[in-house]
Amino acid sequence: MHEYSIVQALFDRIQDAARERGAVAVRRVKLRIGEIAGVDVDLLQTAYDLFRVRTICEGAWLDVERVSARWTCPDGHGDIARGHALVCPACARPARLAAGDEIVLEQLDLEVP
Ligand SMILES: [Zn+2]
Repeated sequence: MHEYSIVQALFDRIQDAARERGAVAVRRVKLRIGEIAGVDVDLLQTAYDLFRVRTICEGAWLDVERVSARWTCPDGHGDIARGHALVCPACARPARLAAGDEIVLEQLDLEVP
């Protein structure tokens, strides 16, 4: 499943970051996930709960912030409202996705002795 590979990659990054900073534990993992990133947050949570056992994240809680999709004009005419055709009303250029497809490790709260 897609969510399992996301969590696997996430754990690799968390472990690197924790090692770099000499952390003994992770208290909280904060992710930002776009609404059209193709991630099922419930599945992601399930995968996280499976992975974290006996890792540095065993006691870390997963905090997910969802980000709405946002479309914008590539020529700087600003955001394009949802529900419209995805072209700029000023210049008719196709909209560019400005937010909503991201999967970002936003914050790690580490316990550093
Ligand atoms: Zn435009």
